[in-house]
Formats: sequence, structure tokens, C-alpha cells
Amino acid sequence: MDAARAKKWMQLFNEKIQDQKDYLSDLDTPIGDGDHGANMARGMAAAVENLAAKDFASAAEVFQAVSMQLISKVGGASGPLYGSAFMGMAKAEKDGKDLPEVIQAGLDMIQKRGKAVPGEKTMVDVWSGVVMALQKGELTKETIHTLVEATKDMKATKGRASYVGERSIGHIDPGSYSSGLLFEALLEVEEKA
Ligand code: ADP
Ligand code: MG
Repeated sequence: MDAARAKKWMQLFNEKIQDQKDYLSDLDTPIGDGDHGANMARGMAAAVENLAAKDFASAAEVFQAVSMQLISKVGGASGPLYGSAFMGMAKAEKDGKDLPEVIQAGLDMIQKRGKAVPGEKTMVDVWSGVVMALQKGELTKETIHTLVEATKDMKATKGRASYVGERSIGHIDPGSYSSGLLFEALLEVEEKA
């Protein structure tokens, strides 16, 4: 990916986050503390503002800059988790990896930091499903939608939602929903949507 496309991807992700800010917080209300929309909106607004102010020579630099903004501006769990993901993606881009490997590197960092495995009702469920679809060359909006919806029937065993135990069943995981927006934006910049 080149710097311009990476920047466009991040801008599009930010637009989707700002549009869905209230919905993301609504998802976080029954199973968390209702701040996921505000967290992501604050972090991504700062990230794109920072991107607009500078020139970037590579996608790696873009992801690195986004990572720093998310880690420093977001208090919730999602800031360090997304921040770690973008850090892993920056490293993989620097090493000349292709897109599935870049997203895999992001997932690896999320798991290194948060210790969640698939099935625990976290953003890991969407990231891991997206990696598999990308490896097969068949990531679509429908696949993303299915992955996000699948978190509804899961019981949370990691993160704040794990505190409500069984009562987390029946609600979509907010971090999975925001991750879905990230990958929808990716499809749009890749012109595959
Ligand atoms: P907080 O939980 O601190 O309020 P947010 O509400 O912004 O932070 O983010 C919650 C989201 O973070 C969850 O919906 C889930 O997808 C993700 N999350 C929480 N803990 C983990 C973890 N250990 N591993 C992966 N993702 C996690
Ligand atoms: Mg929260």
C-alpha cells in the first residue's frame, strides 16, 4: 500500500467512526461503560488531524503516526489495542509484506497485548476472520457483516464485557463493530466495495 492510499483509508475510517459514534457507544452501554464511540471518535479525529498536517513517505509512517495518536489520546482499552495493531501493521509494511500479512501483523499485536483468542467476543473475532478472508482473496462487506454479527451470540470472556458474563450474550461487541468499519473502509479504498 502506498502512503496516499493509507492516508485515504484512515480518513474514511474516521468518517465512519464519526458517523457511527453514538451507535458505537450504544453498543458499549449494555455490556460495557458506553464510551466506545467517544473513545474512537476522539482518537481517530486526532489521528486524521495529525495526518493532514504532515507529509508521509510510506504507509508504514502513516500507520505509525495513527498508532501514536490512538495510544496517547484514547483512555479506554480500545486505544492501546488499536494502537498496537497499527504499530504491528507499520512494521509489516516496512518489511514489504502484502495486505493479508499486514493485517495479520496487526492481529498478532492485538493478541499480544490483550491475550484474547477467537470466540471471546472481542475485536479479535473480526480481525481473525478478515485475515482468513484476505488470504483467500475473498473479503467482502458481507463477510465483514457476518463476522460482526457473529459476536452477538458469544459470551465475553475478555475485557470489560466479561464482567457481565452471560448477560453479554445477545449484544454485538462494540470493538468488533468499529473493526468492521475499519475493514469496510479498506474495501472502499481498495475499490472492491
Ligand atoms: P473500555 O472497555 O476500556 O471501555 P472501549 O469501550 O473503547 O474500552 O473498547 C471496548 C472494546 O475493546 C471491546 O468491545 C472489545 O472489542 C475490545 N477489547 C477489550 N478487551 C480486549 C482484549 N483483551 N482483546 C481484544 N479486544 C479487546
Ligand atoms: Mg467502553
